[in-house]
Amino acid sequence: MPDFDKHRVKKNDRVNLSKTETDGKKIESDRAACEELCESLRTELISLQARLYSEGKQKLLVVFQAMDAGGKDGTTRSVFQGANPQGVVVTSFKRPSDEELAHDFLWRVHKAVPGNGMIGVFNRSHYEDVLVVRVHDMVPESVWRPRYEFINDFEKMLTASGTRILKFFLHISKNEQKRRFQERIDNPEKRWKFDPADLEKRKFWNAYEKAFEDMLEKCSTTECPWYIVPGDQNWYRDLVVTGVIVETLKQMNPQYPAPPDVKGVVIE
Ligand code: ATP
Ligand code: MG
Repeated sequence: MPDFDKHRVKKNDRVNLSKTETDGKKIESDRAACEELCESLRTELISLQARLYSEGKQKLLVVFQAMDAGGKDGTTRSVFQGANPQGVVVTSFKRPSDEELAHDFLWRVHKAVPGNGMIGVFNRSHYEDVLVVRVHDMVPESVWRPRYEFINDFEKMLTASGTRILKFFLHISKNEQKRRFQERIDNPEKRWKFDPADLEKRKFWNAYEKAFEDMLEKCSTTECPWYIVPGDQNWYRDLVVTGVIVETLKQMNPQYPAPPDVKGVVIE
């Protein structure tokens, strides 16, 4: 079993994304073995999720952030395939509506956190408010700077209320982003995903990198850790994310509720 914990950002770690590996091949060379392992981990995930749902006492929140074309959609699809859809709620955070903008930045997020028995998946999240918002000066620094602490407090409160939180930064290289954008243009089935605005954001690569580094350094805690997942190879990325989720669900150790007494029950 690969050591997934090496991708976790520990307290006081300094993060330098341009020096952090994006290439899964350089970490695990045996793709077929990784895929096989991922498949068996997925089977475990499915049965742990069934227990979490039936127990109905704990909840898991999984957060995905990445550069554009970083693989948030693909990871969500692949990691949770086969899980009971009733127990998994995916929320994609887009540009805030007028109503959302009229409230504090956590208002729309808090409404979307998972309830008992559920796995909540955030495709983008409250972290956009210290990423896109920061990079493009949508609010002054005096507004976004305190948000790291507000986020840590918010996540601490969710943890104290029975929610386990796992956060994955899907880390792709600038070259891989180019390859994926080009693929969106060339492949008719992917063209709908091509967004010219993404090319504008690509020009801000370095500023995004800095914002991601700050997020990873300031908001990875022992209880609510960030993982930097090498994302250039889907098969390595999916393995790490599935593996970390399975380890966490095992620690949560959900149990089927005590069954009713069926002694002497006869079905006519
Ligand atoms: P994909 O990554 O698969 O293309 P997407 O998440 O980019 O999907 P889009 O509708 O293309 O979905 O983009 C959503 C946009 O909303 C992103 O550019 C994101 O940065 C932006 N966004 C999300 N949250 C906020 C926020 N709080 N403030 C401003 N912009 C935000
Ligand atoms: Mg997009």
